[in-house]
Amino acid sequence: STAAALLSVDGLTAGYGKIRALHGVSLRVPQASIVCVLGANGAGKTTLMRALSGLLPVSGGQLLFDGQSIANVPAEALVRRGIAHVPQGRMVFAQLSVRDNLVLGGYTRPAAEVRGDIDRVLEYFPRLKERIASRAGTLSGGEQQMLAIARGLLAKPRLLMLDEPSMGVAPILKDAIFETLRAIRDREKLTLLIVEQDADIALDIADEGYVIETGRVVMQGPAAELVGNEDIRRAYLGG
Ligand code: ATP
Repeated sequence: STAAALLSVDGLTAGYGKIRALHGVSLRVPQASIVCVLGANGAGKTTLMRALSGLLPVSGGQLLFDGQSIANVPAEALVRRGIAHVPQGRMVFAQLSVRDNLVLGGYTRPAAEVRGDIDRVLEYFPRLKERIASRAGTLSGGEQQMLAIARGLLAKPRLLMLDEPSMGVAPILKDAIFETLRAIRDREKLTLLIVEQDADIALDIADEGYVIETGRVVMQGPAAELVGNEDIRRAYLGG
C-alpha cells in the first residue's frame, strides 16, 4: 500500500547476546491503522516489541517512525516522541492505586495536563473509573490489562504498541478490551500495533496482519484475507 506509514521496519535483526531472535523483519504500520503481528510462543513477538520500544538493542535494519530513525533510541526518548508500549503481563504497580498508576503513565508530560486527561481516558474504561482508588493488585487480570492500556494512553502517544493484550484476561473481558481498542483508534486516530497469539480476536479489529515464525515474517496481508486463510486457521484458530 502507498498510504503513509507512521512506522516502517525494514530488515530488523535483534537478539540476546549471540542468539539472534529476529532475522530481518519488515513491516509497515500506516497512520491510524490497526496492525497485528501473530505468532506462536517463542516466535519473536516480545522481542519485536522490545526492539521497537528501545528496551532491547537493534543489531541491524532500518526503523523509521514518522520518517525518522528510532533504532537504538532510549525508551524514554521514544515515549517523548510518541511511542507508548503496553508490555506483556501488564506490569502495573500492584501496591499503587489505579489513579497513581495512571498518573505515572503521564510522567513525560506536565502534571496538570495529565490530570485532565485521566478523566477523558477513563471514559473508555468505566470499570476502572469505579475502582479508581483501589490498589492495582486487587484488580482482575482483565481490569489490570485495561489499566495498562489506559496508562499507555496517558503518555499521549501517536503509536500504541501492545504485547498480547488478551493474555490472562477472561473471555468476556477480552472482547470488551478489543472493542475498546477499536473505539480508541476510531475516535483518537491513534495508530495501533498489536502482537497476539489469539489470532481470531486480533484479526477481528485489525486492518493488516503479519505472521511471524522463528523471527521471520512468513505471511502478511489484509486482516480479512488472513481470517480466511487455511494455514492460519489450522495454526492459530483451532480450525
Ligand atoms: P511468547 O508468546 O512466549 O511471549 P514471543 O513470540 O514473544 O513468545 P520471544 O519472547 O520474543 O517470543 O522469544 C523469541 C526467541 O528469543 C525465543 O527463541 C526465545 O527463547 C528467545 N529469547 C527470549 N528472551 C530471551 C532472553 N532473555 N535470553 C535469551 N533468549 C531469549
